[in-house]
Amino acid sequence: MLLNAKEILLKEILYQYLNQLNMICHCEKCIEDVLAISLNQVKPQYITDIDKISYSKSEMVDKQKNTAMLVILTEAASTVTTYPRCENHLPLNKENR
Ligand SMILES: [Zn+2]
Repeated sequence: MLLNAKEILLKEILYQYLNQLNMICHCEKCIEDVLAISLNQVKPQYITDIDKISYSKSEMVDKQKNTAMLVILTEAASTVTTYPRCENHLPLNKENR
């Protein structure tokens, strides 16, 4: 099975820091939007076995890489918050505030 290790890692970091990302909506669609935007900015890292994720994780223990991922996630979160595409916050359109 082909898996993108970056997807798994980004998802973990996203949920770990979810409350610090200042998102106005935490619905599945917004979370997926944040992940999609973030994943499009990082090089995918494909693994063939979920067990190999531990190898990628040990690489992520590198604080600098972890922070870089968090920066990407933070920027993606603010994009989604500024231009939300889910119905939960349509009335909160920035221009109308
Ligand atoms: Zn939402």
